Order: sequence, then structure tokens, then C-alpha cells
Amino acid sequence: SPCLYIVPTPIGNLSDITLRAIEVLKSVDCIAAEDTRHSGILLQHLDVKVPMLALHDHNEQQRAGVLIQRIQQGQSIALISDAGTPLISDPGYHLVKACRDAGVKVVPLPGPCAAITALSAAGLPTDRFVFEGFLPAKEKGKDDRLQALADETRTMVFYESPRRVIDTLTAMLQVFGERQIVIARELTKTFETLHSLPLSEMLVWLQEDDNRTRGEFVLMLAGKPDNSDELPAEVLRTLTLLMSDLP
Ligand code: SAM
Repeated sequence: SPCLYIVPTPIGNLSDITLRAIEVLKSVDCIAAEDTRHSGILLQHLDVKVPMLALHDHNEQQRAGVLIQRIQQGQSIALISDAGTPLISDPGYHLVKACRDAGVKVVPLPGPCAAITALSAAGLPTDRFVFEGFLPAKEKGKDDRLQALADETRTMVFYESPRRVIDTLTAMLQVFGERQIVIARELTKTFETLHSLPLSEMLVWLQEDDNRTRGEFVLMLAGKPDNSDELPAEVLRTLTLLMSDLP
């Protein structure tokens, strides 16, 4: 039946696409892509000959109506982004929301996502984690966001541009103090690097060699140690006071 498919695409290595993703891309009437030129290369590689339509941050709200109409008329559409899973720090939210509001079926396919790929090899706790996406680029906004995470006990996952990695780690060191950070760079590509160090040592290591700050980055920061076995500070204070009154 006609629907909107959400189709993850590779985050580097072109072989990282599922058989089902290829089948769906070949079967739909239209592929909505973030950047049609960029995705054209992948589709050509996969021998997919389906018309594309551009859907990016700037026209998404307006294009959503057109796409929903097409699906209501019986067409199926696949949504892809430049890399990885659509909607994950990528366009698609407005379209999916509009589809669901209009009662149009949305079918998600599982597939590559840089955050999950990085996390699976980081060696930080994965039972609970928070995905923070991109931090604000400006210093004030970035500091505010990091401050809000000061007491976060779960592993924190960030996307970051290579130009800002040093600044971001410096800001993290200021807010969190010494903490373990894991960087995952160029996942699935030739220069894939996973590296784990305390924040201050990571800053030194990254600055030792310009090549270490090139490419695409996922940053994973250890959560604050969970002292939930311990009594809260407030309770401890009261107990100490009470005990000092005991004979
Ligand atoms: N939708 C994508 C996903 O599912 O991961 C994310 C898109 S977001 C615009 C791009 C960011 O994802 C990059 O700046 C980087 O932080 C991260 N990323 C994407 N591919 C990566 C890779 N191969 N290695 C490391 N990080 C990657």
C-alpha cells in the first residue's frame, strides 16, 4: 500500500546498505533527498533509476504537502538524507509529522546511524545514553547546553564538525572537569579512528597531529558517576545534625 519509507543510507562505506533498502529504493515512485546531486551518486552506484525530489531544511514544510498528496493518490515515496538515518540530525521531521497527522502510513527501515555505530564500539556504558546531536556553534549557546548536562549520569553522544572539535572539548573540560571522552572519526571509511582518553589528554593528542582533527566526528562523553547508592547530600547533613544531638 502507498506510504512514506524512511530509508537509511551509508555513512561512508557504500556497502553499508541493506538489501531491503535497495529493494525499496528501486520500487518507489519518487525519492525525496536532501541533496539530489549527492544522492545521485549513491543511486547510480545502486542502479536505482527513480526520479528524485529535493527536500531540505529550507523547503521541507512547503514540500511536505505536495508529497502527502502524491501518497494519497497512490504513490509510494522514499525519504533519504546525505548519510545515515533521515531525521537524525537531518531533514525529515516536518514531513513525517505531517504524514502522521494526515493519517499517511510511515514505514521506517533500520540501517546505518553514526551515533549508534560509534556507541557500539566506544566502551562506554550503553544501557542508557542520551543523543545530543550538534551543540550550538556559538560559545554562549554551547556553554549553556553543556551546563545543562553537568549532572547527566548517562553516556552523552554528540555530533561535531572537525572545525569545532578542539573548542568543544575545551568547553567540556571546563564544565565537566576530567572525564573520559571517546572520539569516533571517519566511521566505516579508510581513516576510521576510535580513541578513548581523559578530556585533557585527548586535547593534547588531537593537537599533536592535524590529521587527527580531519573528517567526521562523533564525540561520546562518560556520564557523571552514579552515586545513587549513597544518601543524598541533604539527607546526610540532617543525619549528621541529628547524630550530634544523641547522647
Ligand atoms: N543522519 C546521520 C546519521 O544517521 O548519523 C547524521 C547526519 S549529520 C548532518 C552529520 C554528522 O554525523 C557529522 O557531522 C558527524 O558528526 C556524524 N557522522 C556522519 N557520518 C560519520 C562518520 N562516517 N564517522 C563519524 N561521524 C559521522
